[in-house]
Amino acid sequence: MSVNIKRPNGTEDVIPKNAHKWHTVEKIVKDTAESYGFGEIRVPTFENTELFMRSVGETTDVVQKEMYTVKAKESEFTLRPEGTAGTIRAMLQNGLLNEALPQRVYYILSCFRHERPQAGRLREFHQFGLEMAGSPSPAADAEVISLANTILKRLGLKNIELYINSIGCPTCRAKYHEALRTYFESQKDELCETCQERLVKNPMRILDCKSPVCQEIGKNAPVILDYLCDECRNHFESLKKYLTNLGIEYKVNPKIVRGLDYYTKTVFEFVTTEIGAQGTVCGGGRYDGLIEQLGGQHTPALGFGMGIERLLLVMDKQGCDYLSQKKCDIYFATMGEAALEKAMELSVSLREFGYFVEYDMMNRGLKAQMKYANKIGAAFTVVIGDDELESGIVKLKEMNTGAETEIRLDEKFAGVFEDIYFSKVLDVIDSEGNGSLFSFMGGND
Ligand code: ATP
Ligand code: MG
Repeated sequence: MSVNIKRPNGTEDVIPKNAHKWHTVEKIVKDTAESYGFGEIRVPTFENTELFMRSVGETTDVVQKEMYTVKAKESEFTLRPEGTAGTIRAMLQNGLLNEALPQRVYYILSCFRHERPQAGRLREFHQFGLEMAGSPSPAADAEVISLANTILKRLGLKNIELYINSIGCPTCRAKYHEALRTYFESQKDELCETCQERLVKNPMRILDCKSPVCQEIGKNAPVILDYLCDECRNHFESLKKYLTNLGIEYKVNPKIVRGLDYYTKTVFEFVTTEIGAQGTVCGGGRYDGLIEQLGGQHTPALGFGMGIERLLLVMDKQGCDYLSQKKCDIYFATMGEAALEKAMELSVSLREFGYFVEYDMMNRGLKAQMKYANKIGAAFTVVIGDDELESGIVKLKEMNTGAETEIRLDEKFAGVFEDIYFSKVLDVIDSEGNGSLFSFMGGND
């Protein structure tokens, strides 16, 4: 019987030849977040379902249609559809909010949403995200947006636009909701079923509906910016000033309301049109009421999430640079058992020095071994046979140039190799200059 089980729809595998792309994104997001004072947090993959109902919001697509809820014996859990809820839960549970504020955490995690799979829209996807808790100041909003902007720049992305909006606080939003209800009431019957429900519970959510009919009806809806209270308006004005000061280009887009219920005041998205409809690579905003809603003290906070698969789609499309893949530094082609044992012994010390070393484990002939070394792009090769064992001297061949250097097969082998290796690397840097994209990270390693 043949077994032919495929991965579930809407999931992806990352195989070793693509791992360096992920490593590039992971390194840049981590280094950048840490340079802004954020520390890493890791939270469980599943949480009590109620956590998401209470934070993401019962009228959102995520909670209404997209959650993976699993039952195990007597308990029920939900696979996290986003990172904020579990992160805030963990910050509360671990007392982080009792320490010096602002508290700043970042994470890289998988999220699960039952959506219709398509390019850039998966059922398991990955987010880099962060949360900053404690500051009500628009300076914090500018800081978080600047961080996201820096990451997108460092990844080398082009043609990405930043849209910002303010969706006010509960005070100004109450008036706005009334205006929206009045506006939609006359065309109520044409709205989709979900939006009819939203009209009662959370009319602003209608503006975020993906149905073309609802979008058309919403075209001339009142705009939240006309309803902001003084405090929210001042907050938004300061944010715009800070962004301008920081040289960050933005567009005010009053249609951005974000898919999750917990946002207040600032919301923002970084969007590209280059990967079709799934163009939002980063979305975030301020959620001043959430922490209290989850049982903490009133603590203003904000954050964002970036979809890593979407970032990679754009990076591939735009031909962005990735950190280079690790390649074999030295390959031992061996003839006979004694030569193999020598290669094993030398490999141990070379690996202690940090080199990537391989030798034959397939019982290939010498020619086939050299072919293999070429195929994997080994930088240097060494042939060991009876003659070399007897003389105690091997030829180290630099594959690029064919240049050969003799090295003694003794305990100093790894050290001598290192000297040669570095002199070659320095030659390469000299000839290529040092304009590396990743120079801010202190080297491309
Ligand atoms: P969209 O409007 O595209 O559905 P969203 O508003 O649901 O996005 P958020 O909840 O804000 O998305 O999640 C933050 C980021 O995570 C998005 O900007 C996007 O880059 C990514 N993302 C969201 N859903 C998916 C998905 N199903 N597959 C891949 N990436 C996703
Ligand atoms: Mg969505």
